Amino acid sequence: MTAPLHDARPPGTGRVLPDTQQGMRRRNLARVLHAVSAEGGLSRAAVATRIGLTRAAVSTLVDELIRWGLLEELGPERPGRVGRPGSALAVSGRGPAGIGAEIGVDHLAVCAVDLRGEVRARAVRRGANRGRAPQAVLEDLTALVRRVVAESERADLWPAGLAVAVPGLVARDGRTVVRAPNLDWHDTDLGALLPGDWPLTVDNEANFGAVAELWLGAGALGDFLHVSAEIGIGAAVVVDGRLLRGTRGYAGELGHVPVWPDGPACPCGGRGCLEQYAGEEAVLRAAGLERREDPVGLLTERAEAGDERVRGALRDAGTALGIALTGAVNLLDPETVVLGGALAGLAPWLLPALESELAARTADTACPVTVSRLGSQGPLLGAARSVIRAVLDDPAVVAERP
Ligand SMILES: [Zn+2]
Repeated sequence: MTAPLHDARPPGTGRVLPDTQQGMRRRNLARVLHAVSAEGGLSRAAVATRIGLTRAAVSTLVDELIRWGLLEELGPERPGRVGRPGSALAVSGRGPAGIGAEIGVDHLAVCAVDLRGEVRARAVRRGANRGRAPQAVLEDLTALVRRVVAESERADLWPAGLAVAVPGLVARDGRTVVRAPNLDWHDTDLGALLPGDWPLTVDNEANFGAVAELWLGAGALGDFLHVSAEIGIGAAVVVDGRLLRGTRGYAGELGHVPVWPDGPACPCGGRGCLEQYAGEEAVLRAAGLERREDPVGLLTERAEAGDERVRGALRDAGTALGIALTGAVNLLDPETVVLGGALAGLAPWLLPALESELAARTADTACPVTVSRLGSQGPLLGAARSVIRAVLDDPAVVAERP
């Protein structure tokens, strides 16, 4: 079976519902849950109007969703008026939780998000992961996940799935890290190394950052490029509100777009890749700084203090980003380019050079560059939200849990 070229969700989540009566019912359950999720406080009658089903049909679906613990009734819509028809509905703050996890080069993070999208538990572990055996890193990650799950369970939540953001290429099976050069991991099956208690999805951190931007960002963007960085630089391409994945799932490797063809050799086998000019290591080197914990904090601190060498290194990184993005903007004509992850924090010093380079090279296709408000939290929140999204898209999975 051929995988679709693009997908609204990270691999492994959600499912295509068949056109049977059963499939129709599941789709209608999802429409009701989405309607209440988008606009809390609706009555059954208001939901029926929003989604174009009869009030009786909506009432049956709502009863089912209440029975599964996904919706709750807030009581009479207006004082003095009692009875179900006027009762306001809300998505439950108990029940399924999306567990999001992030494997960074210098940290591990886990959080639990409820059906309303609120973060209910969180755990972080600082420390270098580069060069450590995947098994050791994943044991630490498992301990954090278990801590977050235990805290969630005390708040009447149960884990509906685990989504893990990684700084590397992920196979379309949604569990194998094909290559994460900055961790030095190759063909690592995370599914085999993480506890099998919950459905698992693994995806590139740039993809999860992009879906977070799509679901939680400032505007309802349909077409954009989300560029983020830790040590490497990744991009995610969103077209018509969906992630463009590419044939093998590797779309968005902006870090290995050549900026200067004769430039320094890159671990990918190429020369003069963007990462060699705008990756964290390259910027630290150009700034004359030793790498330490929180390199972005260090660069920000020095740039703010007026360190000209640091500011120059960031300016040059901005120029290289502008050159690499010129190709992407000309090719894809996005509404906007969003800088996320570590790049969001460095935007004040990257943006002027980036924008002027991009503007000079794309005079006819001017594309605004914006900065993500989610910043470095984007991938983790996007991961947790993708699990919740899968429940909203097919709430009947809740009834099928063992
Ligand atoms: Zn490269």
